[in-house]
Amino acid sequence: MKKIDEYLGQVKCVAIAGHIRPDGDCTGSCLATYNYIRTYYKDIRVDLYLEPIPNIFKFLPGADEICSEIPEDVTYDLFIAQDCGDTARLGKAVRLFETAGTTICIDHHISNQSFADVNHIFPGASSTSELIYGLLPAERVTEGIAECIYTGIVHDTGVFQYSCTSQRTMQIAGELMRLGIPYTRIIEETFYTKTYPQNRIMGLSLIKSVLHLDGRCISSFITAAEMEEYDVLPKHFEGVVSQLRVTKGVEAAVFLYETAEGAWKVSLRSKERVDVAAVAVQYGGGGHVRAAGCTVEGEPEEIIDGIIDLVRRQMQDAACGAEGER
Ligand code: AMP
Ligand code: MN
Ligand code: MN
Repeated sequence: MKKIDEYLGQVKCVAIAGHIRPDGDCTGSCLATYNYIRTYYKDIRVDLYLEPIPNIFKFLPGADEICSEIPEDVTYDLFIAQDCGDTARLGKAVRLFETAGTTICIDHHISNQSFADVNHIFPGASSTSELIYGLLPAERVTEGIAECIYTGIVHDTGVFQYSCTSQRTMQIAGELMRLGIPYTRIIEETFYTKTYPQNRIMGLSLIKSVLHLDGRCISSFITAAEMEEYDVLPKHFEGVVSQLRVTKGVEAAVFLYETAEGAWKVSLRSKERVDVAAVAVQYGGGGHVRAAGCTVEGEPEEIIDGIIDLVRRQMQDAACGAEGER
């Protein structure tokens, strides 16, 4: 796939969708494509389907036009799945995927199995937003589209910090800044600002954290009862696992919170060695080498023990490999 325009010449209606519980990259990349089609293809009907997005992203252009209900009676010529590693993560929008004429998947998850007709999947990219930038003609990127792409990149790179950040990421960010976007505000207001309940649940998660494997792993979990007591929703846990990860000496961090169905949403992060995507895949999830997730049923302590065991084995294998090389 060279440019998104290649696929827009022949179509009358396009649906765009991202993964369930949309994050900054999912929201930003989908809104970038949505705004591009809306601006340059006035004859195309374009609809963006996402679950309710976090309030911090509502300033992005087009955010108030996102549909969160899936219609029964509409089919699309083209369906574009973005930042989504598998069809299950499309949530209810999977119906639109299944009935569409042509499907495109644009993504950077290493666990992505190329589920669409056309697949543009680059696990080396920092974010889906970075990939979208590459698919748009540079001269047609408006300030509004730039804000969406920049927001997505900022969130998936942890403000240009994680190892997924490349020279190209920085070059794209530079191009976007040239368009006059409020980059300090985007970083401050969407990444660093936390509400009072968010800060309190962060504190509780850190207080409850436990070290494993001689301090090389850290875990914590929050129950549904604690979520109620502290008045937090799943979206408020953004940043908790990253904070666990930066504990000195820690290579891998595991964070769980209880979802309404009595299951546990698991977030995994690593620094340099552990492939957490491989761990998540063992539990039916997926993601990236340094950031992955899954949903597991059971007792939290047992789930954590199982995950720590997989991490320990990877560390042992790596140690054996290094031994052999010497
Ligand atoms: P999270 O811990 O939810 O922030 O997710 C980290 C990364 O793993 C993100 O790129 C997610 O898209 C991906 N991910 C999280 N949960 C799942 C899952 N159940 N299945 C596949 N990928 C997931
Ligand atoms: Mn995402
Ligand atoms: Mn992403």
